[in-house]
Amino acid sequence: MMLEINDLEVHYGAVRAVRGVSLVAAAGRVALVLGANGAGKSSTLRTAAGFLHGESGSIVVDGEEMRGKRAHAMVRRGVVLVPEGRKIFAPLTVEENLRLGGYRASRRDVSRAIGEVYEQFPILGERRKGMAGLLSGGEQQMLAFGRALMSKPRVMLMDEPSMGLAPSIVQTVMDGARSIADSGVAVLMVEQNAEAALRIADDVSVMTRGSITWTGVAAEASLHAVHAVLGDTAL
Ligand code: ATP
Repeated sequence: MMLEINDLEVHYGAVRAVRGVSLVAAAGRVALVLGANGAGKSSTLRTAAGFLHGESGSIVVDGEEMRGKRAHAMVRRGVVLVPEGRKIFAPLTVEENLRLGGYRASRRDVSRAIGEVYEQFPILGERRKGMAGLLSGGEQQMLAFGRALMSKPRVMLMDEPSMGLAPSIVQTVMDGARSIADSGVAVLMVEQNAEAALRIADDVSVMTRGSITWTGVAAEASLHAVHAVLGDTAL
C-alpha cells in the first residue's frame, strides 16, 4: 500500500501555498514532514485527503490517480485525515465519537471495530461512556486516531497531533501514531515538534515556504541538522 504525492501545487488565489511537493507514505512506515507555521503542511494533507483539489500534480493511491476526488471517495480508498485540532465532538461520549467514524459499516462491523480501537488504546475503553470534551488533550488525540481507525484506513494523514498538548503527553501520542503504523497502516504526519516526532518516524522531509527543502532517514536526522535547514523559520 502506497500513497504518492507528486509535484503537487496548491494555490489560494495568488498565494502558492504548496510548490511542487513530492512525498511517499508506505505501509508500516511513518513519513514525517517538519515545517514551521504556514509552510504548507496542512494544505498538502488536506489535498491528499480530498478536501482541496490543488492546481496540478498527482495524488496516487495504489497506482490510481486520485487528485480532485472528494474526501468520501478518498476514505473509501482507505485514505483518512486526522485533522489539526482533533475536531472531536465534545458533547458526545467517546463511544459515540467512534461510531461516527464507522458510519459506513454495518452495526456488527462497527462493534468489532470499536473493540479493536479499545484494544489498541485501552484508555478509550476505560472512558467510553465519558463525554469526549472532558478528556485530556492527549486522550482527545487518541480518540481522533481511534475515530479515524474506524474506517479501516490503509493511509492515515495526521495533522500536527502534538499541537497544544502538555510535553509529558506528547510522546505517548507519538507512540500511538507509531503503533498505528506498526499495525500496517501508512502514516504521513506533519508536525512542528521535531524532537518528539523524529523519535518515532522512519522518513523525514523538511518543508519550507511551500517546498520540500530536505529529505532523509529519521534515524540519521539530527535535530541540529533539521534546525539548520529550517534556519530562520525555526520550529
Ligand atoms: P500551520 O502549522 O499554521 O497549519 P501549515 O504548514 O500547515 O501551517 P498551511 O496551513 O498549509 O501551512 O498554509 C500555507 C500557506 O497558505 C500560508 O501562507 C497560509 O497563510 C496560506 N493559506 C492557508 N489556507 C488559506 C486559505 N484558506 N486562504 C488563503 N491562504 C491560505
